[in-house]
This record gives sequence, C-alpha cells and structure tokens, in this order.
Amino acid sequence: ATPTALMVASGRGAELGIFVKGHRALETVRAVDTIVLDKTGTLTEGRMRVAGVACVPDTDPAALLRRAGAVERASEHAIARAVVEHATQELGELPEVEGFTALPGLGARGTVEGADVVVGRPELLPDELAGRVAEWEGAGRTVVAVTVDGAAAGVIALADPVPDSSRAAVDGLRARGLRPVLLTGDSPAAAATVAAAVGIDAVDVHARALPDDKVALVQRLRGEGRTVAMVGDGVNDAAALAAADLGIAVGAGADVALEAADLVLVRDDLRALVTAIDLARATLGTIR
Ligand code: ADP
Ligand code: MG
Repeated sequence: ATPTALMVASGRGAELGIFVKGHRALETVRAVDTIVLDKTGTLTEGRMRVAGVACVPDTDPAALLRRAGAVERASEHAIARAVVEHATQELGELPEVEGFTALPGLGARGTVEGADVVVGRPELLPDELAGRVAEWEGAGRTVVAVTVDGAAAGVIALADPVPDSSRAAVDGLRARGLRPVLLTGDSPAAAATVAAAVGIDAVDVHARALPDDKVALVQRLRGEGRTVAMVGDGVNDAAALAAADLGIAVGAGADVALEAADLVLVRDDLRALVTAIDLARATLGTIR
C-alpha cells in the first residue's frame, strides 16, 4: 500500500513516520500485550555485509560469488542486497539470471551460466562445510549456502549490526508491561546473539522458523489468550503479520508486508513502536 492509502493516526504520528490503517488498529495497539519481533531487518539494521566466503575444494571463489550474486540480484532480501553489493565490488558486472524463484524463508534460486544455483539456508549443505557453518554461526553470523546443480559449492557469512535503538525499544516495551518475543528464520546461534544484544529472554527466542511456523507461533500465543502484535519487514513475515491481532511493518519493507500490516513504521527505528503505543494510550486513554 502506498502511504496515501493509509490513514494517519494523528499529526504527531505522521511526523514520526507512524501510519495506522484505521481507528480499530489504533485500539488494538493499545490492547497488545505480546510483541513478536522478526530478527533480520526488524531488530537488526538489515544492512548486512558479507563477512566471509568459503568454498568446497576445487571451487573458484570468484565463480561462487558471481553465481550467487547473479541469483540474488533478483531477490529483495537483505541477504541478497549484501551478496550483490559484495559481488559487484569484487567482480564488477554480474551475469543475467533466468527462471528466478524466491523461496520465502529458505532462499533464492535461478539459472546462471546454464547452472542451477540456489542460495539459502545452510541446512542445504553437506557435512564438508558444517565446520565452517558452525564456526561462523557461533560468532553470530548469518550463514547462507550456495549450491550449483544440486552440489554444495560454498558458504557466505553475513554480519548484521544490531542498532542501539533496538535495545532501547525492547527496554521500552518491557517498561510498558509488554512481552518481547524473537522469531526468525535464521539459525539458533544467530538468533541467540541478537536476543542477547537486545535483552530478549532465551525462552522467548524461536529460530529456523519458516513462514508457516511464524504463523503457527502467532496463533499459539493468541490461543494462550494473548493479544499479539507481529513486527516484520519481509515477504516471509506477511502471513504472520496478517495472522496477528496487529501486523506491523517496518522500514522499507517488502510490498506484501506493507499490505498485510495494520501499522507501518516508516523509519528503520524500532523506538517508533514504543512511541506508537504511547500515542495510542494517550489518544484513547489507558484500558482498565
Ligand atoms: P528472518 O526471519 O530473520 O527475517 P528469513 O525468514 O527471511 O529471516 O530467512 C531465513 C533464512 O532463509 C535466512 O537466514 C537464510 O538462510 C535463508 N534465506 C532467505 N532468503 C534468502 C536469500 N534471498 N538468499 C539467501 N538466503 C536466504
Ligand atoms: Mg526479516
């Protein structure tokens, strides 16, 4: 949805880049008690950078990067942007991709130079690269696998800084009596690193979640009687945003995420979420 299709809750909200789709959404903001937060692009900057590349023996690192970059050029994921930027810097022009397919929550796939190339979750990889994956994931990196014609070619590690504003936002949510939950498609190790950085309890961290798992967690929490807001930015979050009592899209999110959301935080700063809650409470009065 374009910002013009959204109703502005108040002049103050608009100034702060907070857009609410209608009065009912504003009431839900006030009622929410649980905030499920996506990791990549929501708690993290989402401006990833490549921190390492490793190949299986006999694979040329430049060929790996060229093919991965070509596929990722067609994807809108934060991982994809980082891989393309790095590949372009190292290699210049990248080849064309044919038959691109986005695999939400899993990766991206396409044909490059006649080969079937997949960039995605490291579970796709055989044991030879498991050591590298474990080492990088242990250091809190996001690690993606590259396969060529079904065979493992290598792994790419990505760093994704957690801004201080995310820590401040999580503190602010807690101070208002809300429970923060982290939900990500990334590995348990990468999830734990970010959870520790922002102060989310280990019991409230859910990793390796596919888009359907994200929906299932939201539904489970609602089934427990909670009023759930889901905050996300990606294609992989859209269904969970729709399943939540309140869907919140952040930053320059994917179009489907913006469409599924009841509330949009235009700026990439989660503290706006705390402000939105304060605005809703002030506008409508505190419940009970
Ligand atoms: P998050 O929930 O943290 O936003 P996603 O659900 O978008 O993460 O992605 C989960 C995992 O799927 C990523 O950590 C990565 O391994 C893989 N993945 C998703 N999209 C891509 C892509 N375009 N390129 C490479 N890997 C991807
Ligand atoms: Mg995301």
